[in-house]
Amino acid sequence: MRALLPFIRLFGFAKLPLILGLVLMILGLGSSMGLLTLSGWFLAATAIAGLGTLFNFFYPSASVRGLAIGRTVMRYFEKIVTHDATFRILSKLRVQVFKKIIPLSPAVLNRYRNSDLLNRLVSDVDTLDSLYLRLLAPFFTALFVIVAMSIGLSFIHAPLALGLGAFLLILLITIPTLFYRLGQKFGARLVQARATYRTQFLEFIQAQAELLLFNAEDKLKEKMATTEKIWQADQAQEAKLSGFSTALVLFLNGLLICAMLWFSSQADFGTGEYRAAFIALFTFAALAAFEIIMPLGTAFLHIGQVIAAAERVTDIIEQQPLVEFQGNAEFEPQVQLISAKNLSFTYPERENLALDNLTLDLEQGQKIAILGKTGSGKSTLLQLLVRNYDANQGELLLAGKPIPLYSEQTLREQFCFLTQRVHVFSDSLRQNLQFAAHEKISDEKMIEILNQVGLGKLLDQAQGLNIWLGDGGRPLSGGEQRRLGIARILLNNAPILLLDEPTEGLDRDTERQILHLILQHAKNKTLIMVTHRLTAIEQFDTICLIDEGKLIEKGDYESLIQKENGFFKRLVERI
Ligand code: ATP
Ligand code: MG
Repeated sequence: MRALLPFIRLFGFAKLPLILGLVLMILGLGSSMGLLTLSGWFLAATAIAGLGTLFNFFYPSASVRGLAIGRTVMRYFEKIVTHDATFRILSKLRVQVFKKIIPLSPAVLNRYRNSDLLNRLVSDVDTLDSLYLRLLAPFFTALFVIVAMSIGLSFIHAPLALGLGAFLLILLITIPTLFYRLGQKFGARLVQARATYRTQFLEFIQAQAELLLFNAEDKLKEKMATTEKIWQADQAQEAKLSGFSTALVLFLNGLLICAMLWFSSQADFGTGEYRAAFIALFTFAALAAFEIIMPLGTAFLHIGQVIAAAERVTDIIEQQPLVEFQGNAEFEPQVQLISAKNLSFTYPERENLALDNLTLDLEQGQKIAILGKTGSGKSTLLQLLVRNYDANQGELLLAGKPIPLYSEQTLREQFCFLTQRVHVFSDSLRQNLQFAAHEKISDEKMIEILNQVGLGKLLDQAQGLNIWLGDGGRPLSGGEQRRLGIARILLNNAPILLLDEPTEGLDRDTERQILHLILQHAKNKTLIMVTHRLTAIEQFDTICLIDEGKLIEKGDYESLIQKENGFFKRLVERI
């Protein structure tokens, strides 16, 4: 239950509509009960009065009509107001969750699968809409109406009214408690099974090609079937219990009506002409009262799911970002631009050092190539520079100041980072390029760059720059994706370029041409390029060799190639 507290606190954002919704709910339910109770009395009283007697039927019949209209109108507006309030709260909640998720990227989010994140953001947040609509509002409405009704009826016959009120209050406590307990067990399981099923289903769709090739479709299908069975079993359980709650409440209703008929027929209603009609009034009040209790069983059966959803949402909200940008140092360019001092780093939940006591200096305008075996820590160094992670030991300085001292914006403005995997947005080619720069890029510029990187043929179709890429659009080959990444680099104006294997997967001629473009673009910039290839390597000022997270060799091409038994020399000879 405590898991729900943070979400109840969110109600503060829509206080007025929520209170108005509650008032309308109370008025609606009150009218409904008044209608039935008054009708009971009215019918009985007219029967007693019989034909030809003087009986004022005007007030009661007008009231019956008024209550009937009132009930409909209240219900209508109650639905509008409560749903509107709920959606406002949900939208607030979604924004909050989103705001919490963004700074977690990418280090913490790696732990969650994409589909699971989506589940939490969409379906778990949706489940939370029951909290007010189906749980809290009906419960408090019921409480209020029972008390008000008992007080009202006690003017006619106090013991009967109090007896009825007490019985209903007991039900108001026991029914929700009982069904909360019954629903708690499978609620969490149901939410989990639903999430798991969606994740597996998405994987099944996305990995079709591999599954078919490796003939592994059946295995995943079996896994999905198992999950589905659990999910269905829980749903069946929920349906059964929901039926049970209806049956139980109806049975109790019958009991209460019989008891009310029995006790009221023996009660002393004074000497009024129509006193016998009060028997009908109390009996109908008992009948009407179940409109209050009826929905509570099923609603509280659902609370297990609401709590499970709340826990899943809380779990993601409470994750702490690995890095927090709190500094606001100014970037003051200086010759000694980047220096890493005894840098060591281990990825969270890993044991091996990805960087091991690495020391490296880089001056403004220098072009540096980083070589090393796969898994040696090259990409990790770039990740630390853009502060996707913070080093465990040592210092990483940018223009003389430790990187954590800069605000996120200042830091991002300094770097242009081409990651090892280029992400193609499901969007037009134009937008896929535009986001690389702050200022608007003209179509001519885009076309020029696309031609330079060899993507000119993307423009062959009539849509030109509006051609859709990514999901549902034109698929790009691995090499084309790289070129798109390079086009973005060429359109960006940041003073430091971090390129992670920009020419991977390109043929030798293209590679030469692309490197030429990059070096030209980086003429007045600082360049750090990770690579496995030796093409144009002699054009870099410094070459660094990294192995197992350590810097094992560093120098310019001339000195390294002449170094007896040097790592670089051997590498060149081997290639
Ligand atoms: P490659 O040439 O294959 O790109 P690399 O030199 O760029 O290799 P890194 O990506 O820096 O290698 O990886 C260094 C080590 O850190 C490897 O052991 C790798 O498995 C590990 N590693 C990389 N990324 C992560 C991550 N996000 N979480 C945990 N470990 C990681
Ligand atoms: Mg890498």
